[in-house]
Amino acid sequence: MKYALVLVNITGLGVKTFSYLIPEEMKQVIQIGQPVLVPFGKRGLVNAFIVGFSDYLPGEFTPKKINKILDTNPLFSLKYLKLLEWVANYYCTDLVTVINMAIPAKFIEMSSKVSKAVEFVSKTGATKRQTEILEALERAGKSPLNKFLKENKTTLPTVKKMAEAGFLRITDEEVYRNPLNIFKDVKVEPLYELSPEQDRVYNEISAKLRSQKPLLLHGITASGKTEVYFKLIKDVIDSGKNVLFLAPEIALASQLVKRLAKKFGIDDVAIWHSSISEGEKYDVWKRLYNNDVKILAGVRSAVFAPLNNIGLIIVDEEHESAYKQSNPAPRYDAKTIAQRLAQFHQAPIILGSATPDISSYYYASNNNNLFELKKRFNNQPPARTKVINMQEYGHAAYKGMISKPLQTEITKTLEEKHQVILLMNRRGFSTSTQCKACGYVIECPDCSIPMIWHNTDKVLKCHYCNKILPFPDTCPNCGSDALRNSGAGTQKIELLIKELYPDARVERIDSDILVRKNAHIELLNKFLAREIDILIGTQMIAKGLDNPNVTLVGVLNADAGFSLPDFRASERGFQLLTQVAGRAGRGADAGEVIFQTYNPSYYAFESAKEQNYDLFYNKEIKLRQEYDYPPFSQIIRLIISSENNYRAEKSAMEIGMRFAQLTEKQGVSEYLELLGPSACVIEKISNKYRFQILIKNKLSGKGHKFVSSFLSKIIMPKDIKLSVDVDPLDIL
Ligand code: ADP
Ligand code: ZN
Ligand code: ZN
Repeated sequence: MKYALVLVNITGLGVKTFSYLIPEEMKQVIQIGQPVLVPFGKRGLVNAFIVGFSDYLPGEFTPKKINKILDTNPLFSLKYLKLLEWVANYYCTDLVTVINMAIPAKFIEMSSKVSKAVEFVSKTGATKRQTEILEALERAGKSPLNKFLKENKTTLPTVKKMAEAGFLRITDEEVYRNPLNIFKDVKVEPLYELSPEQDRVYNEISAKLRSQKPLLLHGITASGKTEVYFKLIKDVIDSGKNVLFLAPEIALASQLVKRLAKKFGIDDVAIWHSSISEGEKYDVWKRLYNNDVKILAGVRSAVFAPLNNIGLIIVDEEHESAYKQSNPAPRYDAKTIAQRLAQFHQAPIILGSATPDISSYYYASNNNNLFELKKRFNNQPPARTKVINMQEYGHAAYKGMISKPLQTEITKTLEEKHQVILLMNRRGFSTSTQCKACGYVIECPDCSIPMIWHNTDKVLKCHYCNKILPFPDTCPNCGSDALRNSGAGTQKIELLIKELYPDARVERIDSDILVRKNAHIELLNKFLAREIDILIGTQMIAKGLDNPNVTLVGVLNADAGFSLPDFRASERGFQLLTQVAGRAGRGADAGEVIFQTYNPSYYAFESAKEQNYDLFYNKEIKLRQEYDYPPFSQIIRLIISSENNYRAEKSAMEIGMRFAQLTEKQGVSEYLELLGPSACVIEKISNKYRFQILIKNKLSGKGHKFVSSFLSKIIMPKDIKLSVDVDPLDIL
């Protein structure tokens, strides 16, 4: 091939591809995935990646030559690019957008850092010792730092000095943040002996590992799913293959790595999430590419890490919405991509959950790929649930929020030296700020939703665009001074609980505390160490927390969420309540769950109260079928937004009309059902008016192709944005 397609990251231009001439002497060694230097106009030589080859140019121009191959070891393969191409097609976006997200942009620069340092040393004539350390560091990605220091008979201060001289890509800070370093002294323990029930499921799954379709492990919380995974992982590793293990969020992935390190040793385990430094990522990336990692644990972005030789993929807590990226594009779902990845590697994929996604459950049971663990591992009965009807008990509740029965249980639990979790699925202090004189509600000037009072910062915040406003002295509408905060959020609950239990150690976890890096993980660790008595939080505390000393879970607003105008609202509400209930009574002492609600008879609530998944599923799947919602169709959502309300609406109408005409003409209108265009439930976000078109695709792959070919022909004017969301999480 004559030309190479390279990917560059240019400030102002973003990530783009360009064609370059391959010099004769490079033709033997050049490979996809290698970092190179290329001339780029006035900017001189810039870093780039090889992403393809061709014998032709995409236009008429005289191509420049590639200047240098920075590292002959590639960072990714052709197979890897093929996966990204598939992602781009599926999510109706372009390859560059996907590459941009999958491969950290900094890698393009980082790959050249080491070779620059080598160059520098050879020019300035560093000591022999320095060169040795440098070379060893180049390989250091493969072994944790301490091992490296020992092997090279060097010390941290020396390494630091070299870092200061610009020789290293592992900076001081990165050394300390290396998450695996924490586990360096962990002693490896044997796997647990499985209980008869776990063993049955383990054997059933082992017998189906050749299935091309996902296997679903539906096991109630604390049934011991993770231990079953571990046994399966061991088999895969023993057979010489590698494992990708996904968890929905950083805290869970970190907990998982800790457990994995204990069972498999740290040398074979790596972690991947957005909080590890770019340098660490770069090292992990190289280790993965060199087949030097056996188990990669990570969050959704780990599905793009270049793990080789995959023998098993596990997606734990597969129902979690965090697997889906909602913004920016590509709006991918790691679970969907993981399934594709498994096919690429002809490896099995196991989805696990106590409250499976309705679609996952539907497919798995139809394919005979459903496996169930119905009892808790230690035979503890699931926590008892009590429902407090707030219509009856509300008036006697503390400040209308904390009912008497809940107060009694909290007191009892604290006396027993056990711990309490209180779920309030709304952050901030209140739900709205309203004028009692004229009824005016303060809304975000840029979004069509109420501003929320934050007592800790003493400001009004918009939860959509993060706009901050001071609390006005008087009503902007009528000028009276009757503005009041009403409703409650986590901050208010924190205040009330501290008033009621002044001696208890109370902490709050919601996304507002995430401004402090790792605050969330620190608080969870404190909670595990029993240094917190009552933990208050949003859904962030409902997930995966395994603290045997928690015997009481209270849900303050158990019906919040069920009423959203969205086809997944019931599913999400049910999942949240069941998951949070699963946090109680995981140890030797029985658990108690209290749901406060104004709507005790709602079907999703009924099944959550009984923690009965089948009951919920059977009702929900009928509704989905009746209204052709997933899994009976695939939803493709188009959002048309603009600062100009009228133009956005007009454009949405036009797109809708053209789509309707096309489907009519091709005789597929019945199978590619069009809903809308209509204004979104949240009509305005960040000053952009929003309209949506929903397409219910009942032709699976074929319909999807039809829609993406239709979309590829649309050219939008500059002031109107069209975003496509395939399999959207919500339709607000
Ligand atoms: P799940 O993943 O279903 O929520 P886990 O696998 O985390 O459940 O198990 C819950 C608790 O029980 C964990 O502390 C785990 O170590 C323990 N456990 C599970 N299975 C066994 C076993 N076979 N032997 C000993 N302890 C077990
Ligand atoms: Zn806003
Ligand atoms: Zn007013």
